[in-house]
Amino acid sequence: MTVVTRFAPSPTGFLHLGHAHSALAGWRRAREAGGRFLLRIEDIDQGRCRPEFEAAILEDLAWLGLDWDGPVRRQSEHWGDYRAALAVLEGQGLIYPCFCTRREIQAEIAAMQSAPHGPADTPDGVPLYPGTCRRLSPQQRADRLAEGRSYALRLDMAGAIRRTGPLTWTDELAGEQAARPERLGDVVLARKDAPTSYHLAVTVDDEIQDVTVVTRGRDLFEATHVHRLLQALLGYRVPVWRHHALLTDAAGKRLAKRSDAASIRAYRAQGRSAAEVRALAGFPD
Ligand SMILES: [Zn+2]
Repeated sequence: MTVVTRFAPSPTGFLHLGHAHSALAGWRRAREAGGRFLLRIEDIDQGRCRPEFEAAILEDLAWLGLDWDGPVRRQSEHWGDYRAALAVLEGQGLIYPCFCTRREIQAEIAAMQSAPHGPADTPDGVPLYPGTCRRLSPQQRADRLAEGRSYALRLDMAGAIRRTGPLTWTDELAGEQAARPERLGDVVLARKDAPTSYHLAVTVDDEIQDVTVVTRGRDLFEATHVHRLLQALLGYRVPVWRHHALLTDAAGKRLAKRSDAASIRAYRAQGRSAAEVRALAGFPD
């Protein structure tokens, strides 16, 4: 089977050494296997994404010596693909509208914290969504919709797990994993401001783009439990994953995502060569 990997940056800023590490990891994995390396622009967040950043990212990648196969896929050009996936999940009775504002969710969690059994946290330390809107009656739901209140769509995690049963997935570096999507709770699958979310879009895109090895940073390891569940619900093929270590500075501290000092642009302006920057990104020639 041909190895297909991808790099999927968001055009919300300039390419950074951490991104370069991730891009090189995916590119090397594909090229060493004689496979395909794809480029995807994750621009769901239309308020923060800018065309000039996308152009700069493509230019920096080319400068670094990376090439990619086929056209670039932009998520904002494929809303219909995500709506189709949502329709499947809706048909399974597994999604519900969530009308909560961030403030309402925080207030609910604060109220729960004074109760004997406080809310659980996700592995990233974010409190789990307390499920408020899952418990709305059909009438309450209809009333809120009739009021024209904006809503996100959330996955009924317990119902989804009942449907799929236990699942596993494989990381090329960490080995086989038992899927534990419940740790992330009723995740958002469509945002209030976009007809998809990160979790849904990445799962749909990897299927449509025939990705066989998902290369990305360890910071997304926990999200993979949810993506594996979505693949099972949607009847998708199952890739393997390769979560690489995150690039750290000399002191062992994770590089901040938006540190201008570590942008590829800044290194280029200093007159560094592409080989030097690749080495800084953890890939000496
Ligand atoms: Zn809600």
